[in-house]
Amino acid sequence: MSALIQADGIKKYFQMGASELKAVDGVSLSIRKGETLGIVGESGCGKSTLGRVLLRLLEPTSGTLTFDGMNLLDMREAELRQMRKRFQMVFQDPQSSLNPRMKVRSILEEPLRTHGVRGEERESRVRELVDAVGLPSDALKRYAHEFSGGQRQRIGIARALALQPDFIVADEPVAALDVSIQAQVLNLLMDLKKAYGLTYLFIAHDLSVVEYISDRVGVMYLGKLVELADAPDLYREPLHPYTQSLFSSIPVPDPEREHERIPLSGDLPNPVNPPRGCRFHTRCPFARERCRAEEPAFRKVQSGHFVACHFAEEIRAEQ
Ligand code: SF4
Repeated sequence: MSALIQADGIKKYFQMGASELKAVDGVSLSIRKGETLGIVGESGCGKSTLGRVLLRLLEPTSGTLTFDGMNLLDMREAELRQMRKRFQMVFQDPQSSLNPRMKVRSILEEPLRTHGVRGEERESRVRELVDAVGLPSDALKRYAHEFSGGQRQRIGIARALALQPDFIVADEPVAALDVSIQAQVLNLLMDLKKAYGLTYLFIAHDLSVVEYISDRVGVMYLGKLVELADAPDLYREPLHPYTQSLFSSIPVPDPEREHERIPLSGDLPNPVNPPRGCRFHTRCPFARERCRAEEPAFRKVQSGHFVACHFAEEIRAEQ
């Protein structure tokens, strides 16, 4: 599979008075056409900021970014506007991302109108969208606030699909929904991916949700990617102590996948002033002198499995 998104050395710093908040601090990744790349991490790890930078909704402080082989950071406004048809975002809270004063028809027509889709074509597109996300056809006459949370998220997804994008960043799209509704929306996202050949970046803090939907999963900690692997490999054998701690906190019914319990202690350090060396050393039960002095490289430890830890192999051998 070729890469739809290629990001190298992406940094996004926010000025906070005299200091800089290093929300994303040197992330490189590629997203292959047709895959779902999941990103997990505690809140404040930079995963949402990364998603917005990949869509150029936020300008990166530095780094390079290509979309389908084109340099996204070089594009001027007009070119970028055209390009925006090809990538979209689905938000966590459909309630706040949908205008309550607009009927569903207007919500879905708006992006089409902006991009010059008119008349019959617009009408049939709107009907197709409502159908594709499993809403009744009379939904078009109603206001978004008249729907349940799950249905509102379906409206948000329909709007994201209006311009037939290639790439969707879904930022915690099911976090605000009841557990019983979450699976329905995840299944819808997977069906739509197949039907329309979509590529997803799926951001969430819920590890089981990410496992369910992702082909590969990246783990972020304090603005950095610390582990990346195919989803089955990562969930069977997490190698980074931070990933292991995250996994220890969820109950696993399958004894084959029972991981050593490594409690996550302490708070997330302040991203304005992250720890030197390995950023996880203040919370890592395996930290040694080298970890405090030297930042670990993000390196390949086996086919398709990357980890940023000096001692990943040793730790694995001991477990
Ligand atoms: Fe822990 Fe050191 Fe590995 Fe960082 S490099 S995760 S502190 S063992």
